[in-house]
Amino acid sequence: MTSIAENISQTLTRITEAESRCGRLQGSVALMAVSKTRPAEEVREAYQAGIQDFGENYLQDAVAKIEALEALDIRWHFIGPLQSNKTRPVAELFDWVHSVDRIKIARRLDKQRPAGLPPLNVCVQVNISEEFSKSGVAVDQVEPLLAELQTLSNLRIRGLMAIPEAGMDSQHQRETFASLQSLQNSLKVKYPQLDTLSMGMSQDMDAAIAAGSTMVRIGTAIFGPRKYSSPD
Ligand SMILES: *Cc1c(COP(=O)(O)O)cnc(C)c1O
Repeated sequence: MTSIAENISQTLTRITEAESRCGRLQGSVALMAVSKTRPAEEVREAYQAGIQDFGENYLQDAVAKIEALEALDIRWHFIGPLQSNKTRPVAELFDWVHSVDRIKIARRLDKQRPAGLPPLNVCVQVNISEEFSKSGVAVDQVEPLLAELQTLSNLRIRGLMAIPEAGMDSQHQRETFASLQSLQNSLKVKYPQLDTLSMGMSQDMDAAIAAGSTMVRIGTAIFGPRKYSSPD
C-alpha cells in the first residue's frame, strides 16, 4: 500500500470508530479528501484507494487537476474563499461549493452553471466563531441567505459549512460544532432539503462527528503536511 492509501484506510477507521462511539449509523459520515496544493498524481492515488470526493481551495491549481483527471469519476468540491470574478470556472467544473457566503456570488454561480449539468450543490459557510473569523455569514444572516438561494434554480441547497478557529481545545470545538448543528436543525423546519453538515478537519474530526457532521474535509491526515508555494 502507498502511504496515501494507508492514511486513507486509517482515516476511514477513525471515522467508523467515531460513528460507533456516538451511536451513529456506519457510513453516515462521508470523507472528502482535501487535495489543495497536492499534485494530480496524488489525487489519482487517493482515487484508486477509493476516494471520490475531493476538496480544492485555489482555483488555478484546481482547474489544472480537474482537466488532468477528467477521465476519473470524481466529485469536485470548492471549499475556499470565492471572489466574484472567479465564479465561472467553479460553476462549470465543480459539483459542490461549500463556501457560499454572499448572494452576489450565488447569483453568479446560478447564472453561469451550464445548462446540461445538474444543479450545483451548495453549502452556506457560517461564521460560528465570530470574534475570530473573517469568512462566513453571521448566524442571523443564514436564513435570509437561504431564502434567496432557494429562488435560484441552478443551485441546490444542501447544508451548512464551518471552519472553526484553529487551536481550540476540544471542549470549545465540541461547543462550536454543536452550535452549527443546532442552527441546521432549526433551519430544517423551513428547509427540509438541508441534509449536509460540512464540518471536521484532520485535527477536529472526532468532535465534528460527535456533533452530527455528515461530511468531513480531510487534508493533512491523508496527504501529509502541505507545501505552500504560491496559491493564486
Ligand atoms: C485545508 C482545508 C481543510 C483540510 O484541513 P486539514 O487540517 O489539512 O485536514 C478543510 N477545510 C477547508 C475549508 C480547508 O481550507
